[in-house]
Amino acid sequence: MNFSALRNGEMRQYSRAMRYPTSSKLFQTAKQLIPGGVNSPVRAFRNVGGEPFFVRRAKGSRIEDIDGNSYIDYIGTWGPAILGHAPMSVINAVHEAAKNGLSFGIPNVLEVEMAQMITSWVPSVEKVRMTNSGTEATMSAIRLARGYTKRDKIIKFDGCYHGHSDSLLVAAGSGALTHGEPDSAGVPAVFAAQTIVLPFNDREAVSQAFATCGDEIAALILEPYPANAGLILPQPGFLAFLREITAQYGTVLIFDEVMTGFRLGKAGVQGLEGITPDLSCFGKVIGGGLPVGAFGGKAEIMDYLAPLGPVYQAGTLSGNPLAMVAGITQLHELEKSGAYETLDAIGARLQSGVEALFLKKGIPFRFNRVGSLFCLFFTDQEIINLESVKTQDMEMFRKLFWALLDKGIYIAPSPYETGFLSLAHSNDDIDFTVDAMESALGEI
Ligand SMILES: *Cc1c(COP(=O)(O)O)cnc(C)c1O
Repeated sequence: MNFSALRNGEMRQYSRAMRYPTSSKLFQTAKQLIPGGVNSPVRAFRNVGGEPFFVRRAKGSRIEDIDGNSYIDYIGTWGPAILGHAPMSVINAVHEAAKNGLSFGIPNVLEVEMAQMITSWVPSVEKVRMTNSGTEATMSAIRLARGYTKRDKIIKFDGCYHGHSDSLLVAAGSGALTHGEPDSAGVPAVFAAQTIVLPFNDREAVSQAFATCGDEIAALILEPYPANAGLILPQPGFLAFLREITAQYGTVLIFDEVMTGFRLGKAGVQGLEGITPDLSCFGKVIGGGLPVGAFGGKAEIMDYLAPLGPVYQAGTLSGNPLAMVAGITQLHELEKSGAYETLDAIGARLQSGVEALFLKKGIPFRFNRVGSLFCLFFTDQEIINLESVKTQDMEMFRKLFWALLDKGIYIAPSPYETGFLSLAHSNDDIDFTVDAMESALGEI
């Protein structure tokens, strides 16, 4: 294969008969070289029964494949692209920083600036440590909670996804759900046995778990707005209840805000709901599209980390200057007045368009949305936990996915994923999408 020609889009062979022939050809090669042809499972389009396209470039609300098809993108690289793809401010900042070096492996100024930004935006975070992914952040936060409490067990909720580390790949959402293997092979049963999995929004189940073995539970980790099994919202009082019961038992409350942090407001869900977790995990938006994660919280707990304390955690590239400057620049853009209000207004426009359409068509649906995160479910059940998410009409979703793709709209290739809006989505993009959805529904 002539990879450089593919990268430059010179091998485009567009034909209406096939959606993306060049991608299709490249995918055959990819499958021989990379397991399943992808570096992260959800990209394989298995849940919609097809093959992925290969991206050549993305700008603003658009993503373009190597066959030259352009799509309005509602994934935004699974969250980071909150300003839209390739914002000039971030690109210029990365470009300038790169001239001074790509990685140092010794402290740099940007790390302190990033830490100051995170701690000032998120009041519960007194100290923070940077990682290279959300997975590393949650994995490290769990180890820290265990080291701090000298306990082993943790509680997580069914359908919440916290990355792919051993203790957390139990009844997880996102790609793990899509592939019908919520428990990964290769996770020792003795590890999984330390993880108690409960249904989201179920106070009774939580109370019972604490009554049974509360003094053995190091941490309770959750996505405060679970967004990796569709978008599930907590019932009123549920998060406050979790804060109370964890405090009562000396269990570390960990908010995994890798998805929601810096997306739903300056202080994430904890800011919206007025809850103070002990530790929080971040990623996605704070990396501005570069590989970044972070975890932080009470100084008393964070000081258990090496080199101060006994809990070891490290990273050759952690605090990488390019990743830091990309994130800092993105956060500065979000800091400008009205950014979150604008994101909410874009979300509200999409919501009202889609709701009006489905009511008109008489198709049962639920549309959950908070700010720039949304999810459409083909079900009439109230969405409160993973069980209710699973009542969706999956076949209907698959058909809608392909019909929309044909019309130049790219939504997540799985009914278990949330949709992402960015500041680059225009009113025209939204209106075009609702119209496309109307014709798509007419065809399926
Ligand atoms: C994406 C995500 C993770 C994992 O982050 P990676 O950077 O993919 O490792 C963890 N928790 C939540 C809530 C996420 O959405």
